[in-house]
Amino acid sequence: MNTRTRKGQIVVVSGPSGVGKSTVISEVRTQRKSLTFSISYTTRKPREGEENHVHYHFVSEETFFRMIEAGEFLEYACYQGHYYGTSRADVEELIRAGRDVLLDIEVQGGAQVRLLCPEATLIFVIPPSFGELSRRLHGRQSESEEVIQGRLQRAREEYQEIPSYDFLVVNDKVPQAAEEVLSILKAQDCRVSARLDMIKEDIVL
Ligand code: 5GP
Repeated sequence: MNTRTRKGQIVVVSGPSGVGKSTVISEVRTQRKSLTFSISYTTRKPREGEENHVHYHFVSEETFFRMIEAGEFLEYACYQGHYYGTSRADVEELIRAGRDVLLDIEVQGGAQVRLLCPEATLIFVIPPSFGELSRRLHGRQSESEEVIQGRLQRAREEYQEIPSYDFLVVNDKVPQAAEEVLSILKAQDCRVSARLDMIKEDIVL
């Protein structure tokens, strides 16, 4: 049985701003060490506590547009006036090395990944309700009311894309949401297509 030669899988996690995606993702990563988080590029300014090259690669619009021109993004999108993109080279290198790569991206990016990598797993995380989402966004206290209303409106638009995702996870309590994501990843590991290497000497393909 050879599990080492397998290519890594791409896992997209999307969900409205404020749903607690980052917390769920860090819990998942604690429990699944083989999962690598792809650090995106963005033109938005760092929030308090965010570090360059850890949370994002923070770049100027000029740099971002140069990267688009050079075809350096696997996907990119404009979200609430800022650009966000995933490095094609970073993801390809990790996948080749057999790492599973997690992309925390919004729905336009998710649709691009779906087209380019049909085998990717797309997970959408929602809050228990819109009321709860509003409470969570207000609780952050880092954004103006106008920005919060924009994010709520954007969340309603993003919900329209849920049917093109593979899995829906409700983040009521983080441990349960993380467990659901881990179960999805485990199920994907067990797919025949992911395990053909294990039986290649026993069957004629
Ligand atoms: P935030 O500014 O709150 O960190 O992120 C805003 C939105 O951008 C989130 O929905 C996040 O998932 C998304 N995002 C982060 N990185 C990328 C990326 O590389 N590509 C795309 N398409 N969306 C991203």
